[in-house]
Amino acid sequence: MITEKLKEKLLSMGYTVKVFDTKKDATEYLTYTLKGESVGFGGSMTLTEMGLYEKLCDQGCEVFWHWKPQDGRTQNETRALAGNAKVYISSANALSENGEIINIDGTGNRLSECLYGHEKVFFVIGQNKIAEDYDSALYRARNVASPKNAQRMNRKTPCAKDGNKCYDCNSPERICRALSVLWTKPMGCEYEIILVKEDLGY
Ligand code: SF4
Repeated sequence: MITEKLKEKLLSMGYTVKVFDTKKDATEYLTYTLKGESVGFGGSMTLTEMGLYEKLCDQGCEVFWHWKPQDGRTQNETRALAGNAKVYISSANALSENGEIINIDGTGNRLSECLYGHEKVFFVIGQNKIAEDYDSALYRARNVASPKNAQRMNRKTPCAKDGNKCYDCNSPERICRALSVLWTKPMGCEYEIILVKEDLGY
């Protein structure tokens, strides 16, 4: 649940925090704030549901998203350009009420870009991603977010059948290959957390 206490906790860790009632309000804020910037996107159903890529492109931003490579570039070329963007935007698989931000990745680009190399990183996090503590946030990332993503990607993994549980598989198509936990705000980069009081992504 998005509470004043959670906001205060994140602020005490050095994050900038904004809370929005709707994804529409959050999208309008980001579109206004990032006008004209160069922006890299991580793979994210949250950002898809917000329609943020299209809005930023309309505002004249240079947006690099491997889900929508442009100008004949490959996904990897687009990932590399996203890595050089001034700003990076991602969601999170889970945020604990203690402020830990957890992400799981297959390629690892989203994890590395959220840790280092940009002037500013934004995390956009819907209310469904909040978990009580670190253990339940990790559980959520592994057993809720990842199986649903495997299902969405039509992966041949045991979790993709019902999308309800991780089997810690050894499948060649396993999507969970790396984990990042931000215990608190990393040094040397500005971070802004956008909390949205709606369900967003997985
Ligand atoms: S480790 Fe395998 S079974 Fe578990 S969520 Fe990832 S892909 Fe699915």
